[in-house]
Amino acid sequence: MAEKVLQVEHLEKSYQKKHVLHDINFSVAQGEVVTLLGPSGSGKSTLIRCLNGLEVYQKGTITFEGQKIIPTEKNWQQIRQKIGMVFQSYDLFPNLTVMDNILLGTTKVQKKDKATARSEALALLKSVELDDYANAYPRELSGGQKQRVAIVRALALHPDFMLFDEVTASLDPEMVRCVLTIIENLANRDNMTMIVVTHEMNFAKQIADRVLFLQDGRILEQTPSEQFFTAPQTDRAKAFLDSMDF
Ligand code: ADP
Ligand code: MG
Repeated sequence: MAEKVLQVEHLEKSYQKKHVLHDINFSVAQGEVVTLLGPSGSGKSTLIRCLNGLEVYQKGTITFEGQKIIPTEKNWQQIRQKIGMVFQSYDLFPNLTVMDNILLGTTKVQKKDKATARSEALALLKSVELDDYANAYPRELSGGQKQRVAIVRALALHPDFMLFDEVTASLDPEMVRCVLTIIENLANRDNMTMIVVTHEMNFAKQIADRVLFLQDGRILEQTPSEQFFTAPQTDRAKAFLDSMDF
């Protein structure tokens, strides 16, 4: 059994009076790809955001690379160097070029030498066919291009773990494939450990080692991918799969 990189135990999260995550328990092994599936509002984004320190949680523990996370902002800033996250909205700084958006994390936060950081950034941009856009501004890019830059920006920090939250949800269909291929390569070629939230069921089926199925803030199933897509354990997961077009 590969080493556990991330372990979540008894996590509970409320927004004011609304209790949205209930006793969440799971772990992710080195190199494993977990897809987090579930209907809209089931708590997928909230859970992912808790794993990156973007939401406070009221109870439970998160252990990353053997260290229990003490959830202070300072600690989360450190952890975010290791756990990269990409959202549906790319959140690039509009006033900075593509290159400067990428360098912000590597040179300002990680204090990497500027020339090295720049050449690494260019290599990453080339890997997603955007090296010609290093000096462009986000407004000059399509949605799919912006999302590729957001992925490069996260990868430039050399994370050990990636979180993807519906990164293709706002893209045109022809752009979706291109972004999914990048994530597939990260999983299959680079053996990146990751949690992926997606509504692209064929992609999830192809990429996932294991599926966590969330409903009303509870994990109803944690099932190996082949089994989840052919014989889910719960009626709710079955109904969910039946409702998806794939
Ligand atoms: P999903 O990503 O699965 O669609 P979310 O994690 O976004 O689900 O939402 C889970 C629940 O938490 C929903 O009922 C949603 O309305 C609620 N919620 C999400 N964000 C907030 C917030 N900032 N304040 C209050 N309630 C929220
Ligand atoms: Mg969401």
